[in-house]
Amino acid sequence: MSITGIKGFNDILPGEVEKWQHIEAAARRVFGLYGFSEIRVPILEKTELFCRSIGDSTDIVEKEMYSFVDKGENKVTMRPEGTASIMRAFIEHKLYAADPVAKLYYMGPMFRYERPQKGRYRQFHQIGAEVTGIADPKVDAQVLTMLCHFFAELDLTEPHLQINSLGCPECRPKYRQVLKDFLKSRIDKLCDDCRRRIDTNPLRALDCKAAGCKEATEGAPSVLDYLCHDCNDHFAKTRCHLESVGTSYSINTRMVRGLDYYTRTTFELVTGLLGSQSAVAAGGRYDGLISDLGGPSLPGIGFAMGVERVALLLAEKDFRKRPDFFIAALGETAQAEAFRLMSGLQQKGRSVEMDFAGKSLKSQMRRADKFNAHFTLILGEDELVKGSAALKNMDSGTQTDVRLDVDVLCKAVAS
Ligand code: ATP
Ligand code: MG
Repeated sequence: MSITGIKGFNDILPGEVEKWQHIEAAARRVFGLYGFSEIRVPILEKTELFCRSIGDSTDIVEKEMYSFVDKGENKVTMRPEGTASIMRAFIEHKLYAADPVAKLYYMGPMFRYERPQKGRYRQFHQIGAEVTGIADPKVDAQVLTMLCHFFAELDLTEPHLQINSLGCPECRPKYRQVLKDFLKSRIDKLCDDCRRRIDTNPLRALDCKAAGCKEATEGAPSVLDYLCHDCNDHFAKTRCHLESVGTSYSINTRMVRGLDYYTRTTFELVTGLLGSQSAVAAGGRYDGLISDLGGPSLPGIGFAMGVERVALLLAEKDFRKRPDFFIAALGETAQAEAFRLMSGLQQKGRSVEMDFAGKSLKSQMRRADKFNAHFTLILGEDELVKGSAALKNMDSGTQTDVRLDVDVLCKAVAS
């Protein structure tokens, strides 16, 4: 029996991978406009990094981490998200010493032990970005605008931006207490997880997917009513700046996010097209995280998007590249000449396919169709003698007679 891959871990095959490359290129292009640099960090980190940053009572740390003890007895974890690692690197390499403002982006695999389903996998991929060192709400608006710009670049206009504010260590405890009291008054309706978390992480009940919890939390107090003066002001200014640049959003006061480090602005890009996997991208401000991880007291904000979910939204589109030429050649001498031309054209930066198997013209033309080449060139004995051949434009169907010369062929496709 052959060995198969592990459930929830996917191969990204040719045909599909072009979509991924398109998404990644759009991210590099758009993030570049906003002055972001790429950072690459390892997949494996010390387990304590995630416990300390994401929080012990979160779903990720409680049940989803791929953690193990390595041969040196070290407790390690395959990263479930990017922010903790990026901030670990930011602190470890003292990037803040040269400039407290870092604008970083990353892309790569993340690992969470979840129930695999459409849009939810055990190895999945995120593209994310982080900004350190700026508390000003203009940066919140900028990060959100960049995220929306990225989706617009992909012609994806359906996902909708939702924002909320979770306050700060000053005002959140008061809200937590009010919410706890509210939840306790309806405890019999809550699911086991939410009951258990009432004291450790009551906010999670607000985005619990269980029907009972949804019903029980209807009419729950809104976090926005409990923001302190500074958080309220910060949120109002963030909204103003979003409006000033035309980034549309709605407010969702029940959005709490699944990671403990968030403060103030939190947000999700939500789609109606992926069932319960509705968040395509998500993030927020984390003004306490850098100091919690032993770094200087600097604010931060960032997001991560799920590449699989973005790819699902682009499912209908084909991003495979079309070769410039397909050369069909009949007979050994013509095949040799086709090979010589192909190589010459490739050296000049043109993409070329041919058939090496010496099949019939009909079968070679079928291959040309399959490759969907822009031009086909058919070489036989006569063409070799003449030194020219018919070049067919596969889109318009027109044919022109061209000299069998690399430069001439290059010009023919350029015009
Ligand atoms: P969800 O509510 O869907 O579980 P999350 O709140 O756990 O999402 P984050 O940790 O904020 O998500 O990660 C950011 C993005 O990464 C999500 O919006 C989603 O697009 C993607 N993502 C998260 N978990 C998975 C997964 N298991 N498989 C595929 N994509 C994922
Ligand atoms: Mg999750």
